[in-house]
Amino acid sequence: MDAVERLPSAQGPAPGEHQYASLALVNTAFALPGGPYDGLPDGTAAHEWLRERGLIAARARVDEDGLARVRRLRDTLRVIFSAQSEGERPPADALRQLNCALAAAPGVRELTWTDAGPELSFHHQAGEAVDVALAMLAEEGAELLTGADGAKLSACGARGCTRLFIRAHASRRWCSDRCGNRVRAARHYAGHGRTTGRNAP
Ligand SMILES: [Zn+2]
Repeated sequence: MDAVERLPSAQGPAPGEHQYASLALVNTAFALPGGPYDGLPDGTAAHEWLRERGLIAARARVDEDGLARVRRLRDTLRVIFSAQSEGERPPADALRQLNCALAAAPGVRELTWTDAGPELSFHHQAGEAVDVALAMLAEEGAELLTGADGAKLSACGARGCTRLFIRAHASRRWCSDRCGNRVRAARHYAGHGRTTGRNAP
C-alpha cells in the first residue's frame, strides 16, 4: 500500500486527461525516484487501457507487436506535445510517425439517410483493431494540438515529474496539488539551507 501511495498515478489524472485520451496515454509512462514506471507493462494492460476508453473491442487482443506500436505512438505524442509546450517545432521524424498512425486506418466520411433525413458520419475503415485505436488516438492528439487547448499544453514544473497537462490558468505550473506542494516544501527547505549556509563560519 505504501508503494502504491508513492506512485504519481495516486495523484489522479492530470488536468486534460479526461478530455484527451492522447494526453492520458502520454502520461502512462513517467519517472519515479527508483526509475521509469510504465502503466502499460504488457499487452493485457494495453488492451484494458484502450478498452476502458472505448478505443478497442473487448474481444480484441493486443499482442507483443501491438503493444510495441502503442508504446511507439506514446513516445511520438510525448515528443510532439513536449515540443508544442516549449513553443518549438517537433522533429520531422515524430510528425512522420504520427502521420503513419493516421494513415494505418484512415477515417472515411459517409452519407447515410435516416428517418430524420441525411446524416454525415465519420468512421474508420475496418482494419486491425490496434491500428484503428492508434489512428483514433493520433487523430485526437492532432486535434488537441490544433485546437484551442493546444496552446495550453504544459510540462509539469515539479522536479522529477514528467507528466504533461492542459493548463487551465496561465499561472498553473504543476500537474497536481501534490507536485505543487512538493515544490513549495523543497523551496522551504532550500531556504533553510541557504540561511544555515550564510550563518556558517
Ligand atoms: Zn507533476
